[in-house]
Amino acid sequence: MAIGVLALQGSFHEHVLALRRLGVHAIEVRKADQLEGLAGLIIPGGESTTMAKLANQYNLFPALKDFSTSGKPMWGTCAGLIFLADRATGLKDGGQELLGGLDCTVHRNFFGSQVNSFETELAVPALAASEGGPPRCRAVFIRAPAIVEFGSSVEQIADCEVPSFSAPPSLEGEMFTRRRVAVAVRQGNFLGTAFHPELTSDTRWHSYFVKMVQAFEEVAASSALVPQKF
Ligand code: GLN
Repeated sequence: MAIGVLALQGSFHEHVLALRRLGVHAIEVRKADQLEGLAGLIIPGGESTTMAKLANQYNLFPALKDFSTSGKPMWGTCAGLIFLADRATGLKDGGQELLGGLDCTVHRNFFGSQVNSFETELAVPALAASEGGPPRCRAVFIRAPAIVEFGSSVEQIADCEVPSFSAPPSLEGEMFTRRRVAVAVRQGNFLGTAFHPELTSDTRWHSYFVKMVQAFEEVAASSALVPQKF
């Protein structure tokens, strides 16, 4: 079983190292044909506008769309979360192409600019229930997005108190006034985190994603064993 990491830009190497630490075969993906045979895909953090431009330049969108509609697990961290969102706000003039799949609206720079990057602890009972360890994790937010709205099939895994330094962004003319905002969500085989688990030594998020991938593989293998009617 191999898991790919989109390696156009950003913190792909750190994801590859985290997967390898778990003994998973990890592959850097730069071309469409490298997606063939992968069991899951991580879209890393970085700069989502640049990543979208490069994905366009390398003509990766059609293959990425096929991958996401195949139902194979995908995990977007930070810029990768923006990439996987169905809707995004706060984009640069002219916007950017989104792969979509996750029924949510992401604000691209929710917490402010680069100087408003921060680290905090998040309560993550679902992560601890699956992976053990404490019911919280250290989370690194770098010019991070947040999930400001999501559909009913999306489950919130973690939220974060909006820090006092982050000026509440305006969302389509309306100010964001809630004190907490979603920063990790799951919808079926899509996982999205606004922060960077690959920059900490806690590999539980990677191990959680690997379990999603293994579960998908098992279901795919058992349905392949069901006799087909001709
Ligand atoms: N806000 C950034 C963007 O627009 C994402 C930052 C990150 O991935 N660390 O892409």
